[in-house]
Order: sequence, then C-alpha cells, then structure tokens
Amino acid sequence: MKLACIAPVGFVEDDILAEVEMVIRNNFGFETQRLPGRPSPGGAFDHDRGQWSAIEFMKDLVASRPPEATRILGITSDDLFIPMLSFLFGQAQLNGAAALVSTARLRQEFYGLPSNRDLLMARVRKESLHEMGHTLGLIHCPDRSCAMCLSTNLEQVDTKLDRFCRACAASANTRMRSLLENDK
Ligand SMILES: [Zn+2]
Ligand SMILES: [Zn+2]
Repeated sequence: MKLACIAPVGFVEDDILAEVEMVIRNNFGFETQRLPGRPSPGGAFDHDRGQWSAIEFMKDLVASRPPEATRILGITSDDLFIPMLSFLFGQAQLNGAAALVSTARLRQEFYGLPSNRDLLMARVRKESLHEMGHTLGLIHCPDRSCAMCLSTNLEQVDTKLDRFCRACAASANTRMRSLLENDK
C-alpha cells in the first residue's frame, strides 16, 4: 500500500484532519499517516495582503515529505494566495508529490455567517480530493458535479460532490495501480 502523509500546518482542528484522512483512504486507497503539527513557514506571511504565500507552503511541504511517503497533503487554516490570484482554496503539483488545502475560506465564519461544521467538512472533503487528484495527474473536469471541477468561488465548491465522476475515478484508479506496480 502507498502512504500519503497528512501535514497540519499551523493550527488545524483534529476533526478536519480525521475527515481528510478518511476521504484520502476511501477514494484512493492510500494508507494515511498524520505528521506532527508544523508552524506556518517563516517568511510566508505577506503583510500587505494579510495572507500567506502558497508557494512558500508548497516548498516547505516538498522539503518535509518523509521518504517513505508517496504523497504529502498539507492542511492549513491560513488564508493563501499566489501573486496572480486574490486567494486559493488549495494548490497541488500536477503528477507530483505535494498538495495543499486551506480551510480559511471554506468556513462560513470567514463571510460573517454562523459556523456550519457539516458544510465545512463537505467542503474540506471536496477540496482535498481535488488537490490530491491533481497529484495523480487529473486535470480540471467539465462535469460540475465532479470533485475535479475547477472552483474559484464557494458556490462552485458547494455545487460539486465529494466524489469523482466516472471518467476521473477511472483515471485516478489507473494512476494508483501504476504507482503500486512501479513501486515508486
Ligand atoms: Zn484544480
Ligand atoms: Zn470528472
């Protein structure tokens, strides 16, 4: 079995980490292991934007992947950006080892609304699946109900389901099989 490490960056609640582990195990067949919490990378905070650089987070994840882990998925509550986008729900290396999800803008509280734990968990499942899908070579899917559909706003996140369409599920399975066969 292949190992995917779940890496909390900064403060992340245990129930969120458990949800991520479950969705990764169930959908890809990875074994999961939770790494000890790590601080947000020094220098990643942009004072002008009041946000954190996703690029710095990704560098930190790539550098901290244990050699026995095929994938590392960072989870953070910090609000992420890259220079050309005002924010990101997450990021991943296409066909690579590292992926990242931010829960900051998946929380109702971010928009001044009452907290909704079930809704937050559903959004976390969808975005974790999405970013891990990219690490398996999956690209954006035109099916709006598929977890691989691009979401640039919450409405799009809430429209899709916490699973892949048949075509994306088949691609993910093929890729997982070849990972197992090549043992890398
Ligand atoms: Zn994407
Ligand atoms: Zn799809």
